[in-house]
Amino acid sequence: MSQQRLDKVGIKSDTGGSCGELSVMVLTSAERLQRSAGALLLCWLLAGITLFIPIAHFFLVPMFLIAGPVLFFMRYRVTELKQGVAGHCPECSQMVTFELEATDKLPKWTYCPSCNKSVHLVYDAGSVK
Ligand SMILES: [Zn+2]
Repeated sequence: MSQQRLDKVGIKSDTGGSCGELSVMVLTSAERLQRSAGALLLCWLLAGITLFIPIAHFFLVPMFLIAGPVLFFMRYRVTELKQGVAGHCPECSQMVTFELEATDKLPKWTYCPSCNKSVHLVYDAGSVK
């Protein structure tokens, strides 16, 4: 079963900064294998379906057959998924959650969902004023 981990991060803006918590889902090897196998099977299913499309099957079928193992290894290498940063916005002082894509890397510029001003999410929570 996957574990949830919370990391301290800094939320900076032009006028100040605050601390927040980055929630990260750590995947077990069984979950990584399941995620990867899903991508592989989907690609190979699409290869099977596109086999019956005239002319397009000349490039779609090989593309999906090759994309399956490539996506399998790309997804298997992902060991943790970033979910979001919760903290107080330094601009509007509201408690907000900054949604992150699983593959986003910090430091990252984003917008406050409350006041829509730009903020900088950084790993170094100690550098925040
Ligand atoms: Zn804000």
